[in-house]
Amino acid sequence: MDFYQCKKCDRKYAYVVTDMHVPGGKDREYAICPYCKEPGYSRVTSGFIYTYKLDSEGKPIPKSQA
Ligand SMILES: [Zn+2]
Repeated sequence: MDFYQCKKCDRKYAYVVTDMHVPGGKDREYAICPYCKEPGYSRVTSGFIYTYKLDSEGKPIPKSQA
């Protein structure tokens, strides 16, 4: 898990890159800011990039509670 500071709203969020290791099928995926939906970090991967909001202590909030 890594952190990224959104260039648009200046808030920090966590992102996780999951690589499915599928041959071919690689695409540029973007970490989408969970606050303002601005694309931030990007990477060419066959997987997905998940983003998480951070709580007041800077810990990632699981999707089910977001
Ligand atoms: Zn943002």
